Amino acid sequence: MFLQPKYIKIFLVLFFLPSLVFASEIKEWQQKKSEHFVVYYTLPDQDSLAGEVSRMAEHYYKVLGELIGYIRYENFWTWDQRALIYIYADQKNFMQKTGQPAWSSGGSADHSYLLKNRVIVTYVQADGFIDGVLPHEITHLVMRDFWGTGKDFPQWFDEGMAQLNETHKRDDVNRIFPKIIKIQGYIPIQVLQKMDVYRETDKNAVAIFYGQSLSMVDFMIKIYGADQFAYFCRQLRDGGSFEESLRRAYPAFSSLEEFEKKWLRYMKNK
Ligand SMILES: [Zn+2]
Repeated sequence: MFLQPKYIKIFLVLFFLPSLVFASEIKEWQQKKSEHFVVYYTLPDQDSLAGEVSRMAEHYYKVLGELIGYIRYENFWTWDQRALIYIYADQKNFMQKTGQPAWSSGGSADHSYLLKNRVIVTYVQADGFIDGVLPHEITHLVMRDFWGTGKDFPQWFDEGMAQLNETHKRDDVNRIFPKIIKIQGYIPIQVLQKMDVYRETDKNAVAIFYGQSLSMVDFMIKIYGADQFAYFCRQLRDGGSFEESLRRAYPAFSSLEEFEKKWLRYMKNK
């Protein structure tokens, strides 16, 4: 409940966006290039918004790179490897230009379209894009490149990481989750491990999934430190299974259940 509205309100749309789609319109787009991103926008009066998006995108990229200890060693996502961010002025414009149906129920479509093409497509209706959707999607993009293909680990971990830089979300989760735990409303770790949130239709379950994902990742970093977390990420990248990597990086978590137990204890004492 406390997470989902952002998705509905901001209404992010992600889809396959080859340059072909925009070939006939590309002259309408203004662009702002930074080291790792190109921001496309359609109206001259969005110039300052595009500048802010560009600046914040670089900021999130840097913060994430520092967290996983990665980007400073790699010269990636520059020049023609930059990620593209398309901002439409409004939903009407977006629908007209792309021929997309009325996505009025909101939410984000399957991330895989976005990830394959390193594109973020959105339009801004509310004041939640820059501090919500943008860091979320940038994290997905960076982490996908970091993990490489063929890795199979739980979706909650990916989504937990994606939310780390979403302003206010962590505070919301830390405030609300102890109450959810008290009424046994959380998702047991073995269920969470296999959960595919895109198939989930119960809004409440979706909200709990996102909240718990963020809370668990936040717990790993806050209590055990950034170095250990970065080590864990590298273990995953280098092909360790989720459980193996967890045990290697966190001796305190001898099993998934032990991880869950420690997280629960930490949250209950908040
Ligand atoms: Zn996501």
